[in-house]
Amino acid sequence: MFKYEVIKVCKQSGARIGRLYTPHGVIETPVFMPVGTKATVKSLSPEEVAEAGSQILLANTYHLYLRPGHETVRAAGGLHKFMNWSKPILTDSGGFQVFSLSATRKVTDDGVKFSSFIDGSHHFMTPEKSMEIQMALGSDIVMAFDECTAAGVDFKTAESAMSRTAAWLERSYRSMTSSDQMLFPIIQGNMYPELRIESIKRSLPFARCGIAVGGLSVGEPKPVMYEMLDVLREYYPENMPRYLMGVGSADCIVEGVVRGIDMFDCVLPTRTARNGTAMTFNGTLTIRNAEYKEDFTPVEEGCDCYCCRNYTRAYVRHLINTDEIFGGRLLSIHNIRFLHRLVAKIKEAIYADRLLDFRNEIMENLCRKNNS
Ligand SMILES: [Zn+2]
Repeated sequence: MFKYEVIKVCKQSGARIGRLYTPHGVIETPVFMPVGTKATVKSLSPEEVAEAGSQILLANTYHLYLRPGHETVRAAGGLHKFMNWSKPILTDSGGFQVFSLSATRKVTDDGVKFSSFIDGSHHFMTPEKSMEIQMALGSDIVMAFDECTAAGVDFKTAESAMSRTAAWLERSYRSMTSSDQMLFPIIQGNMYPELRIESIKRSLPFARCGIAVGGLSVGEPKPVMYEMLDVLREYYPENMPRYLMGVGSADCIVEGVVRGIDMFDCVLPTRTARNGTAMTFNGTLTIRNAEYKEDFTPVEEGCDCYCCRNYTRAYVRHLINTDEIFGGRLLSIHNIRFLHRLVAKIKEAIYADRLLDFRNEIMENLCRKNNS
């Protein structure tokens, strides 16, 4: 049911265009995946998310386990039915949130004891439990339960988390019994090249149709993240997509694809949208600013999204400045569409064997911070 085929390799960069077949449809890579943490991309309907060009959504195991509970989602017929999204869904393992959100936690080789950030109740998450939850959710792509470390931890801590991640991967793999869901291993190892290499080597025996790079974009400078991606590059299998977790700024997507990455996700486009930031090919716009008060042009000239087809910067600015929900909705649609348009341009450059030229042409404008 799962298959990945590479249909074009850029002669200049080695970046790929591919197709990932899943039970809920085909995903063309490179792909940006919007995040619907609690089974909704905040404030948008599934139809709006699809109309913006999204092929697959992320949902969050930790949040859905706590509320409404995975058994409720199972009773609803799975996450696709529950949230009315018929295209592919990827669920993370809950590992990252257990480590980043829980008020208290205790990690052992068995799993993680943590208390809920909602009501302080006590829980025990294990690889087996994470798989049980993700099987109940019925996502197409399931992530292995891993231990993510913060940027800057010492070698010993990073090594122990990497080792534990490898042991947990094997347990995740053994307890994943559903045949219409695909498990992706997660490579850890913090910012230590030798640990990254050991992590991918220990992950490969369990990678069937995809592999993920975790524990990056956790506070390290971007060049360090790129260095880690460069280290991993020669170890990836060709016949499966590589997913860089939690990365979704425009420049990092371009730099990631250049380094052989095929899949990206991030809350950034929708979170910054709700704060009034628009992502464009000319950098980010802080739409609250006075200079847009009587700017009756679209958020981005040439953008085909619902926001830009119908509304002006001045109107969106007014909505954001008066805390009207519609403003955040419009910018969320625009920002998601922007990243899909960016990926479309990346694909064009791959087809034309000129992705490195494209990167050099576009990067300065992409990174511009207008009036922020
Ligand atoms: Zn737009």
